Amino acid sequence: MSQMLTIALTKGRILKETLPLLAAAGIEPAEDISKSRKLIFETNKDNVRLLVLRGSDVPTYVKFGSADMGIAGKDTLMESGSEGLYEPVDLGIARCRLMTAAVKNVKTPEGRIKVATKYVNVAKRYYAAQGRQVDVIKLYGAMELAPIMDLADEIVDIVDTGNTLLANGLEPREHIADISSRLVVNKASMKMKHEQIQSVLDAVQSAL
Ligand code: AMP
Repeated sequence: MSQMLTIALTKGRILKETLPLLAAAGIEPAEDISKSRKLIFETNKDNVRLLVLRGSDVPTYVKFGSADMGIAGKDTLMESGSEGLYEPVDLGIARCRLMTAAVKNVKTPEGRIKVATKYVNVAKRYYAAQGRQVDVIKLYGAMELAPIMDLADEIVDIVDTGNTLLANGLEPREHIADISSRLVVNKASMKMKHEQIQSVLDAVQSAL
């Protein structure tokens, strides 16, 4: 008999791109997720359920084994660290770049600078690797505002078209990483539910 498989998904725009991949693996929510305020969804398969979470919480649920698998952006995985997780499949969806940005045509000062971001760990690692001294300021949203209001010299943020930066008088500076959504698996689940998980991985991979 197969055990319950719990898959953590990221709500919002990524969900729309995720559901067709799951459907290709034969997994479909029993109701319309976008029309519900529930957090746990049954599926057409008795032994598979879905959690719909804020993206930055997906790695946490999977690491601790509360979810066996998950779909999360590489940005949130870089920020949360990857111990306890396998990252076997790059889904190639929700592609964007993680970049530094600053006010257009304004040179970043020499020496210690202030960097505002929600990616505190990524920013610390990136600037340290460059040998640059920074004070990292944690923000939860609207990073673009920080350089304009003199809260920070630079930001670290997701850039897709670059329109958000442009609309706020900023410009992209340094490329930190290419981002896309990844399928992640709890390491213990991979052993204990190997057959079940492998069949989802195979089905998703062949749907890509
Ligand atoms: P853009 O104006 O196209 O450069 O989009 C920038 C904003 O959209 C960022 O500040 C993010 O909040 C959001 N964004 C764009 N693409 C993604 C993605 N793949 N994952 C998460 N957030 C994204």
